[in-house]
Amino acid sequence: MSVARTVLLKISDNQWLRANGTRLPFVRRAVSKFMPGESFDDMLVATKATANEGIGAVFTRLGENVRDLAEADAVARHYLEVIDRIRALGISCEPSIKLTQLGLDIDRELAFGFLRELALRTKATGNYLWIDMEQSSYVDVTLDLTRRLKQEFPAVGVCLQAYLLRTRQDLEDIVSRGIGVRLVKGAYNEPATVAFPKKSDVDANYFALAQQMLSAGARAAGSRAVFGTHDLDLISLIRAHAQSTGLKSADYEFHMLYGIQKAAQLRLAQDGALVRVLIAYGEYWFPWYMRRLAERPANVWFVAKRLFG
Ligand SMILES: Cc1cc2nc3c(=O)[nH]c(=O)nc-3n(C[C@H](O)[C@H](O)[C@H](O)COP(=O)(O)OP(=O)(O)OC[C@H]3O[C@@H](n4cnc5c(N)ncnc54)[C@H](O)[C@@H]3O)c2cc1C
Repeated sequence: MSVARTVLLKISDNQWLRANGTRLPFVRRAVSKFMPGESFDDMLVATKATANEGIGAVFTRLGENVRDLAEADAVARHYLEVIDRIRALGISCEPSIKLTQLGLDIDRELAFGFLRELALRTKATGNYLWIDMEQSSYVDVTLDLTRRLKQEFPAVGVCLQAYLLRTRQDLEDIVSRGIGVRLVKGAYNEPATVAFPKKSDVDANYFALAQQMLSAGARAAGSRAVFGTHDLDLISLIRAHAQSTGLKSADYEFHMLYGIQKAAQLRLAQDGALVRVLIAYGEYWFPWYMRRLAERPANVWFVAKRLFG
């Protein structure tokens, strides 16, 4: 892992910066590359624009590690309201939530109660519910709660991270239950005891897991196969593999983040691939933004240019 990535991920955990970093004007200007705005109306405008380009959306209101019950409750109410607004507008936009935003750090059952409410509403409105994956210490509980949710709700998917050594086993279990999988490389600072330290190993594991997701057994189990990546080489490999096994473009999807590889998103959609873009909004964006910088430390120069430009 590069030094720049480690430093940026450490900054993302700094409590003072988490609370105050979003007030720095040059950081505010720079973050607009990755999010259309702080309000959910900003997200809806961006969703409509991407829909016009043949690209669906996933939305997330930024926030994590909520330690106040009233705040977790307000987060759940907010998601319920947005799910209803989306239904009324008739647009394709799926929620993706972090369990620590629903109060997982306060109480596991409380978070599950909120999660269940969201699942009830997505089911009633014909939507789909995605669950994000956070640091490795949360993987067991996230997968447990996802499995519980799936017993009641069919349209549920979870994010799995290719950098974790354990993911091959997790993927097998999750897929066999028909739970959707959004496979990503992984965005957090993890030790070598749990994650591949070398990027080349993460990339190789990503492709091996992708093949697992596209296998006949996984397709038969009904698990939705989503590849959350901007890695164009990997995307080409996955598409070629899928084609060689007789799968159609409609059998799997690519999800990318708003503002990243926009030209590739359009090319893929025009080429018949199913593409969605994850649109984030909200006021609590500092740690999330630092993780975006860490993914490509060259982005720091973009911030610097905004500072002096
Ligand atoms: C839809 C979606 C949902 C995600 N959900 C989660 C989650 O729940 N949990 C989690 O841990 N992680 C999540 N991630 C983040 C993920 O783990 C990676 O950190 C991120 O996607 C970068 O990895 P990559 O696959 O794009 O490959 P990389 O090898 O990092 O990047 C490939 C290429 O994409 C471009 N690129 C990638 N990132 C950036 C960036 N920030 N700025 C500019 N260009 C960039 C660069 O050109 C780079 O060369 C999500 C990612 C996506 C796309």
